[in-house]
Amino acid sequence: MQHFPDARSVVRALAPDEPVILNRPHAAARAARFFVEKFPGKSLYAVKANPSPDLFRILWDNGVTHYDVASIAEVRLTRSVLPEATLCFMHPVKSRGAIREAYFDHGVRTFSLDSSDELAKIVEATRDADGNDATDLRLCVRLRVSSEHAALSLASKFGCDLTEAPALLQETRQYADWLGVCFHVGSQAMSPFAYVQALDRTRAAIAEASVVIDMIDVGGGFPSVYPGMEPPPLEDYFTIIHQHFYALPIAYNAELWCEPGRALCAEYSSLVVKVEKRRGEELYINDGAYGALFDAAHVDWKFPVRALEDDLIKPEMDFAFYGPTCDDADYMPGPFNLPEDIQAGDYIEIGMLGAYGAAMKTDFNGFGSAERIIVEDEPMASLYDGSRTRPAADNVVSLR
Ligand SMILES: *Cc1c(COP(=O)(O)O)cnc(C)c1O
Repeated sequence: MQHFPDARSVVRALAPDEPVILNRPHAAARAARFFVEKFPGKSLYAVKANPSPDLFRILWDNGVTHYDVASIAEVRLTRSVLPEATLCFMHPVKSRGAIREAYFDHGVRTFSLDSSDELAKIVEATRDADGNDATDLRLCVRLRVSSEHAALSLASKFGCDLTEAPALLQETRQYADWLGVCFHVGSQAMSPFAYVQALDRTRAAIAEASVVIDMIDVGGGFPSVYPGMEPPPLEDYFTIIHQHFYALPIAYNAELWCEPGRALCAEYSSLVVKVEKRRGEELYINDGAYGALFDAAHVDWKFPVRALEDDLIKPEMDFAFYGPTCDDADYMPGPFNLPEDIQAGDYIEIGMLGAYGAAMKTDFNGFGSAERIIVEDEPMASLYDGSRTRPAADNVVSLR
């Protein structure tokens, strides 16, 4: 991969006709070290946020040993890049074939589930040729929790509710060498209180089930920073999670896990796009809803932008973007703040696309390709560069 100091130097040297993904290995390394050093337990990288082998190696080199994989393709990919990593299959709905291959061919022992049917699938698929049940399964029961503090909900699809959880925990305990409870508070959780509510629910389920619990997995949802979304410091999340974890009725040596996706890789990548046409307040750019800007189009996500020309002198105004495909839905309302005199032929850098950005690119309409280049400057925003101060008073969650 080519190296450049920053986006401007890429544009000056290459004047790229197609979008370019700029990767910042130093930013991903810093995020990994932050979680490894400060989260009071084990941090699994949620591979779906960005399944790039280069990123896996950076995370591994900086202490991330466990990976949350959700499909057999993610299992194979992660295993091929990191032969010694611990892979945990945390999608609560899997095929028997996927479970079998993960267990027998790739050494996966940790599986999540949210129903008796899924438990039966896992038990059957991991039986040996003589019909003996596996004795080394590490099973996590996924609890449904609220997504009210998150920018993106994950509350409706997976997880058993509180009325079903105690019986499912008891049943799962019979097959599990190691039993955990997991949940996901939704992506980009803007308040640590999301985890307090979920851990309260976890406590209720465990108390009712009266089974030994070996692990609590608080899932993903740790935020990054975007325009209009400035979360409290991650240390606040870690402190509160730790306190509430300690108060749970679980085994004395129970482990605490989390599964960050976004927080580990959002700062890793940005994107350089070219303006192909301007129509008033709308810019037609060469990446969009079917490319790295899926979330900007489909869930109105705001990403930071900056113009890369030196000769733009007018004050900024609000723009919307159209992507390159022929589909009307290829539209990103923004607003994106750029100089008033920006025009066709100019370049824009769009930041914070390392999570659910670079990973979402499709080839629809022939617009999928993008070169990848390493740059050395700082990401457009960071939770890890020491620039963030204590939160405003209204962000501080009181401890109970
Ligand atoms: C998507 C996902 C994650 C990562 O979520 P982020 O919000 O990116 O941190 C973690 N665990 C599970 C089970 C997921 O589905």
